[in-house]
Amino acid sequence: MPFNLPGVLVPLHLLVNPRLVIPSLIIKDIRQLDFPELRRAGYRGAVFDKDNCLTLPHRDALVPELKDAWRECREIFGENNVLIVSNSAGSRLDAGEIQAESVTFHLSVPVLRHPSFKPSYSCIGSIRAYFASLPKPILDEELVIVGDRLLTDIVMANRMARRRSPSHGRPLRDEKSESTIRNASDALALEKIGPLAVWTSGVWERESMPIRWLEKSILKGVKNWVVRGQGLPYEANAERFVRRVPEMDVVPQRMSLWKSLWNRWRK
Ligand SMILES: [Mg+2]
Repeated sequence: MPFNLPGVLVPLHLLVNPRLVIPSLIIKDIRQLDFPELRRAGYRGAVFDKDNCLTLPHRDALVPELKDAWRECREIFGENNVLIVSNSAGSRLDAGEIQAESVTFHLSVPVLRHPSFKPSYSCIGSIRAYFASLPKPILDEELVIVGDRLLTDIVMANRMARRRSPSHGRPLRDEKSESTIRNASDALALEKIGPLAVWTSGVWERESMPIRWLEKSILKGVKNWVVRGQGLPYEANAERFVRRVPEMDVVPQRMSLWKSLWNRWRK
């Protein structure tokens, strides 16, 4: 795994703003995302991570179980309004942009070319430039950003949020969330507008498990010590944007730790 300086510096930023690690929505995988409802709520574009979100790590083809959900997503938002932002394909590690071409071929959507890793502000700038260049430009708060890593995908999405200006006339998307305002801190959090940060907690293939454990521990700590019983955005949003998928009750086949270690040892 290459050294990701912007990722390594995230814990320092979390000391100042620990809420950056809190997702707006938690799902197992994208089959649980209610795309028609997201569109009705005003979201017009989407950014997806690739590895362990749409594909197996270091592969370019879609996980077969996600085929219908992925097609629905592209139909609802439009293929050019859905962008893959990966720290492998399209990044500076992707020599000759060969993997980016392959991912576009397999997933039928563009892959962002970006010189700096997620969750850097430079990468955010590249995402904004892409959506601003569309025939109908898409604003940050009209984006859904989906990924499986809290310290990269979710922190990046939350870094794109900004304070709502008093003149900003758009209504809150989730009227129910207004009832969760219990104190000034909640009200302040709701004053921010930005992308919907969606965390896919399911892992298609075991990878970076110690970092995932650390991420979950950080989220748990922030929930217990910073948020402390105040309304969590992912709880308020779950009722509206998460749908139950009966086939997901069957746990997907995942590579066991021992099998993974065995395969690694054989290489
Ligand atoms: Mg990933």
